Amino acid sequence: MPSFDVIVIGGGVNGLACAARLAGKGRKVLLLEAGAVPGGGAGERDFAPGYRAPALAHLTQGLDARVLHGMGLARHGLAFDPVATTVLAGQAAPMVVQGGQTSGPDAAAFAALHAKLSAFARVLAPFRADKPPRLVAEGQPWGRLLRQGLAIRGLGRDDFRELLRMVLINVHDVAEDELTDDRLKGLLAFDATLGAWLGPRSPNSLILYLDRLSRGEGPLWPRGGMGALARAMAAAATAAGVALRCDARVESIFTEGDRAVGVRLVSGEEIRAGLVVSAINPRTTFRALVGPRALDAGFFRRTGHIRSRGAAAKLHLALTGLPDFRGGDPASRLVIAPSSEAVEAAFNPVKYGEVPKAPVMEVILPTAREADWAPAGHHVLSAIVQYAPHAPMAGLEAARSELLENTLAVLEAQAPGLRGRIAHAELLMPQDIEARFGMVGGNWHHGELAVEQMLFNRPLPQAAGYATPLPGLWLAGAGSHPGGGINGAAGWNAAGAILEARA
Ligand SMILES: Cc1cc2nc3c(=O)[nH]c(=O)nc-3n(C[C@H](O)[C@H](O)[C@H](O)COP(=O)(O)OP(=O)(O)OC[C@H]3O[C@@H](n4cnc5c(N)ncnc54)[C@H](O)[C@@H]3O)c2cc1C
Repeated sequence: MPSFDVIVIGGGVNGLACAARLAGKGRKVLLLEAGAVPGGGAGERDFAPGYRAPALAHLTQGLDARVLHGMGLARHGLAFDPVATTVLAGQAAPMVVQGGQTSGPDAAAFAALHAKLSAFARVLAPFRADKPPRLVAEGQPWGRLLRQGLAIRGLGRDDFRELLRMVLINVHDVAEDELTDDRLKGLLAFDATLGAWLGPRSPNSLILYLDRLSRGEGPLWPRGGMGALARAMAAAATAAGVALRCDARVESIFTEGDRAVGVRLVSGEEIRAGLVVSAINPRTTFRALVGPRALDAGFFRRTGHIRSRGAAAKLHLALTGLPDFRGGDPASRLVIAPSSEAVEAAFNPVKYGEVPKAPVMEVILPTAREADWAPAGHHVLSAIVQYAPHAPMAGLEAARSELLENTLAVLEAQAPGLRGRIAHAELLMPQDIEARFGMVGGNWHHGELAVEQMLFNRPLPQAAGYATPLPGLWLAGAGSHPGGGINGAAGWNAAGAILEARA
């Protein structure tokens, strides 16, 4: 007899959300996490003696509202502070942007564009909260597809036409059409491509901006940092009845009679359950944990083709003093992406495994909010640097030092004197991120979020509705619809699909 109804593999935000929802509905759930603490990309760590930084993710666009309220995370101490954006561009004065509000000659045009894109994002948001319609087998829930389609039709003819244009267009062209200020064009281009293997001129790049807006009203800082968010989720999951085990890496998923029936840990321990839910990378799930013998050969081959190139690097600096970003608010999100062309120019080299001369980046100073993350008077800088090659031509270490040098040069130009304050620097390249966090290719979403890998194609058509071709095995991580970020929608949706199927 299995000792659990469900085993969830992976205690990132999606595994935690999935496990908590299932346990809340009375299922006996075991959550197995390889790391010493749950959280995955949401966590923090001491990267130098006395200096703490977000482990990977440093801001959230917003947790999925169903996860936030359904898990009662406020009761477990989770609170968020909104974070304004400061755009830095060369010698120009820093420009503050909050939602659609900003200053300068483009203020009205930017507000109008933000309002239009937010309205489209609201129409698309319900797609995130449902399992994607399947188009590959008989007896499909066409009603759901129709319902979602009707929500879009509700826009009216002109807006509907405009939405279709926007879904297909690239963000560079939209920025060129609607704005004149290079700083705002750069911000739009940067936000659309953050975490993607795309440049602003790549086809369909605007849809990623709509996706970002549909995730929430962020950027937000979880009070206490990302680790506090993970701890609140773990406390809520445990309170819902989830048995959470850390330092418990799953080595394989075992089958009986063509059905997944349990997992084997690296320690050799075997645990059985009615269902196995994988909230880790889909490619790793099928290729490393299940293996070819339990899967159809064609399907197994396709799992190797899930595109998963990462292009974001993570920089942590220990600083002996507060850098001055030309007067920009150190508690804000500082974006260095001087124009849309600059974002495109930073993307071009990674196509050939090379490093950009002038990377673009999102910078935060966590110590402006959490003073005890560094010794008194000292600070920590956390930056997401784009773009970094996932397969560098020159080799990992050469690419790392070149990208670090180029990144520090960009930072020094915006905050003169910063280099002189560096006590320790760490740059995590996509290969390091794969090794530490299990994100294949170092990809932000555990599989590229691009039109051809969205909805009913995510991660593959045969496994798009969280169920997989292997009976008893389900997916629940960012590699599934609707993708990643510190959000939890994929895990929550997966639990819903499981409950619906087993009702
Ligand atoms: C450079 C970079 C910066 C980012 N910054 C941000 C940001 O600022 N904001 C944001 O919203 N998103 C950010 N992201 C994306 C975000 O971190 C991920 O999308 C998110 O963490 C995905 O959540 P998840 O729960 O699906 O997976 P994960 O967070 O990857 O969690 C998976 C968990 O499974 C565990 N695990 C793996 N293998 C096993 C196994 N075999 N057995 C047991 N457990 C296992 C892992 O230890 C991990 O805890 C960033 C990504 C990158 C690459």
